[in-house]
Amino acid sequence: MKALQYRRIGAPPEVVTVPDPEPGPGQVLLKVTAAGVCHSDIAVMSWPAEGFPYELPLTLGHEGAGRVEALGAGVSGLKEGDAVVVYGPWGCGTCAKCAEGKENYCLRAGELGIFPPGLGSPGAMAEYLLVDDARHLVSTDGLDPVAAVPLTDAGLTPYHAVKRALPRLVPGSTAVVIGTGGLGHVAVQLLRAMSATRVIALDVSEEKLALARTVGAHETVLSDAQAVGKVRDLTGGIGAQAVFDFVGAEPTVRTAGAVAAVEGEISIVGIGGGALPVGFGTLPFEVSVNAPYWGSRGELIEVIGLARAGAVTVHTETYSLDEGPLAYERLHAGEVNGRAVVVPHG
Ligand code: NAD
Ligand code: ZN
Ligand code: ZN
Repeated sequence: MKALQYRRIGAPPEVVTVPDPEPGPGQVLLKVTAAGVCHSDIAVMSWPAEGFPYELPLTLGHEGAGRVEALGAGVSGLKEGDAVVVYGPWGCGTCAKCAEGKENYCLRAGELGIFPPGLGSPGAMAEYLLVDDARHLVSTDGLDPVAAVPLTDAGLTPYHAVKRALPRLVPGSTAVVIGTGGLGHVAVQLLRAMSATRVIALDVSEEKLALARTVGAHETVLSDAQAVGKVRDLTGGIGAQAVFDFVGAEPTVRTAGAVAAVEGEISIVGIGGGALPVGFGTLPFEVSVNAPYWGSRGELIEVIGLARAGAVTVHTETYSLDEGPLAYERLHAGEVNGRAVVVPHG
């Protein structure tokens, strides 16, 4: 089959032919209907050889959707043709975190050598995808796979961050979303669907701010040196009760710290390498800062539920598998508005 692989450190990904996968006991083989293009892959492809955590070549794609093609021995509860999306942060399934559905925080994945598809295990940017266990699949019957696939990361990751901030997002509160790309434009919609908060979106691109307004941001602010003052003005000097940074670079984490309100919460979701010092006097009183990773299995089911209810619509542009390298180029250049999705059997 064809697969889009990251093969050499620093080189662009390539479409190659690899052996067709076959499901072993307990595994599920999917015919891939859609695979999302995440900015994290660009970060991965920029890491140096020293300390690179995955084996190469690596088939990319940690957002996957498909139809069940074949079941390994012992798999029940699924049948050929079922439409599903893949819960990506695979864990051991039995540790204390996995027992809560928080496989993203599995206590044993490292020790057991368990990697997410596309981030260590062969990913979804291929004609077929092997899923290690049926519990990592969520039914999306009736949903368009292209619209549904980004929900597994661009939906699930902000959903987790927003859900934990909900107690602060009371009527009259403000939430700031920094970076309204793949994850951020979904975050705006989740905030609108799940709370009565006022949403202020920041981005460096006018096009992305326009998308943020289309999907529900009340205010948009260009992310520049004046942004902090503008957010402070829009909040009567108080700041935002929750700040979600989907860039996570040095300037944006500084902005996040500077626009937070007393007792506010800052989620640094972007992996841009920035760090926000926390200590008495560095931030407004009692601000909490967290850096979450992905979300739980239960939360993915909830996000799919929101999409079914029509509360979240991911803006997508599609690419064939052969165009996969182009999708990454465009994302890297900031030219994707919403989420790029690869359709291998287009
Ligand atoms: P994206 O490229 O689609 O979106 C990033 C957005 O940030 C773009 O709209 C861009 O214009 C904007 N931006 C860039 N610099 C900015 C600045 N200085 N101020 C404001 N906006 C700025 O990327 P994505 O796929 O949505 O991913 C967003 C980030 O989240 C990436 O760093 C990615 O690696 C990370 N991520 C983290 C997790 C996690 O579990 N923590 C999961 C998925 C993605
Ligand atoms: Zn991702
Ligand atoms: Zn576990």
